Amino acid sequence: MSGESSPFPARRHDHGACIAEGLARAEAVCRERGERLTENRRAVLELLLAEHRPVGAYEIVERFDWKRRRPAPAQIYRALSFLEAAGLAHRIASRNAYVACSGSKEGHGTVFLVCRSCGTVAEPNGGAVGLAVRELAAASRFALHAHALEMTGLCPECRPAGEG
Ligand SMILES: [Zn+2]
Ligand SMILES: [Zn+2]
Ligand SMILES: [Zn+2]
Repeated sequence: MSGESSPFPARRHDHGACIAEGLARAEAVCRERGERLTENRRAVLELLLAEHRPVGAYEIVERFDWKRRRPAPAQIYRALSFLEAAGLAHRIASRNAYVACSGSKEGHGTVFLVCRSCGTVAEPNGGAVGLAVRELAAASRFALHAHALEMTGLCPECRPAGEG
């Protein structure tokens, strides 16, 4: 590996810090948007923040603490669409699942690096890619609504040592 920092988390890292950072960011984003991080939204985000891999909506319904209430998948879907609209979670189409946003920088939500071995998803700064995509759309006179580029490969922890 070169000295450049990878957007992938090290296999051993202070994951509590990731969770705390994600929740603090969610609070800040909600405040900015004049919305509330309701109990449901927060609980769903916490389930996503628990790992760096995408989690399917169905899995969230199963893991969610319903506190003896009857599971209401619609509540999970509503919370997920809120989190997605707020940029706090992203849908990984190739996995049909959601991942907590791990980038607070510009250009997030554009490129996702998906490790096909451990399933970890990293979100590098995709600013330049986003710009290229918008230019391409404009040149094609295409009204672009959304775009995300999912790249599949091996993360630094899973790629064979000494390679590349
Ligand atoms: Zn972590
Ligand atoms: Zn993001
Ligand atoms: Zn991996």
